[in-house]
Amino acid sequence: MVDPLNSIQLTTERARDVHHFFEKKKGESTICIFCRDWKASDPEKFPNHIYIYTPRTANSGLRRHIEKYYILLFLEQAEKHGWLILIKSVESAFSMGYISKSLRCWPALDS
Ligand SMILES: [Zn+2]
Repeated sequence: MVDPLNSIQLTTERARDVHHFFEKKKGESTICIFCRDWKASDPEKFPNHIYIYTPRTANSGLRRHIEKYYILLFLEQAEKHGWLILIKSVESAFSMGYISKSLRCWPALDS
């Protein structure tokens, strides 16, 4: 039996990285906060990649965005906040000892 309270906490804990980068509102588009601010402050330099996703986009899809555009910021923030690492390439680097031992890794739970 899975304790429902535990599983809610686990879900929230696992999505902390996504919530740091994305604004998610129920039934509304999920928006990358960093891209939105970048575009607002410097529209001419913004590379015009996609940063607004449908509300149904899974966290794994959103993490691909983080991986592609904000991986260094992600690593810095992950260490600072103690996030679980659910980005595949980071998991690999981690398991091979390339990045900080203080980062936590939880590869078995990504979906
Ligand atoms: Zn973005």
